[in-house]
Amino acid sequence: MKIFILLVTTLLFYCGTSSLEVKKPISEISGSMSPPELQDGFYAILVGKSFYPNRLANSEIEEGESEIVFLFYLIKLDKRYILIDTGTSSISTSKIAVQNWISSDQILGSAGIKPGMIGEIILTHFHSDHSGGINLFPNAKIYVTPEDWYSLKKNRTLGSKLFAKERSGKVQFVKSSFEVFSNFRILLTKGHTQGSIAIEWLRSPGKKFLITGDECYWVEFCKQGHSLSSEGTFSLSNNKEFLDYVSVLSSSGTKILTMHDPAVLSLGEEVLPRIYKLD
Ligand SMILES: [Zn+2]
Repeated sequence: MKIFILLVTTLLFYCGTSSLEVKKPISEISGSMSPPELQDGFYAILVGKSFYPNRLANSEIEEGESEIVFLFYLIKLDKRYILIDTGTSSISTSKIAVQNWISSDQILGSAGIKPGMIGEIILTHFHSDHSGGINLFPNAKIYVTPEDWYSLKKNRTLGSKLFAKERSGKVQFVKSSFEVFSNFRILLTKGHTQGSIAIEWLRSPGKKFLITGDECYWVEFCKQGHSLSSEGTFSLSNNKEFLDYVSVLSSSGTKILTMHDPAVLSLGEEVLPRIYKLD
């Protein structure tokens, strides 16, 4: 009888332990172990979701809203960490509420990337859903056009730290097409905002990416050269000119990536929660 009770107790103990482990939330698991290190590569990071009016995106439909995601991109090249945009730092922008929001630094932290490790940030434009996390990364040098930096500094919540950043010499003003590293080039587009930019990256022979910023939203319509509406642009003619270029690049095999299309995530594999490896 004693042996039987011991056996039952032991079994209960092990079953109990294993079921507890299965039910542990992901955050607790990652908190108790050192985070896995990301491989070198190109990643899309999902900050949150929302709905956005179709008339402001490059949609064929004018009415209603569509679900969008809030993305930024990470490039890891050995010890060099580069962000394209920074995600939003609050749970809502001035125009739209962000659902399921997690702070950019927290998502990167789950992959062992501390804020101080981000060395460079390329800002596609000044809008808060792209620039809101800019002050989370104290060591980063910022590539931005003078026009959009000026607009950004008007933002009261970000402003004072941005002046300090500029004084420290960590803002590189982009005034013409500029190569950040070999075959990775910033393009001035200046359609969506006065100083908006895009990025063209020849990753390897035959593999090219174009990150459009918010010059276009829906990848399928971007490929067709479908521009924004005048309401969604600073300069509609600049936006149209860039979208012509997008369709030409797309037809010759370049992968088009935007900042808000959920379809971007299906191009990659989710290697950690909200971190999608694209290449
Ligand atoms: Zn945006």
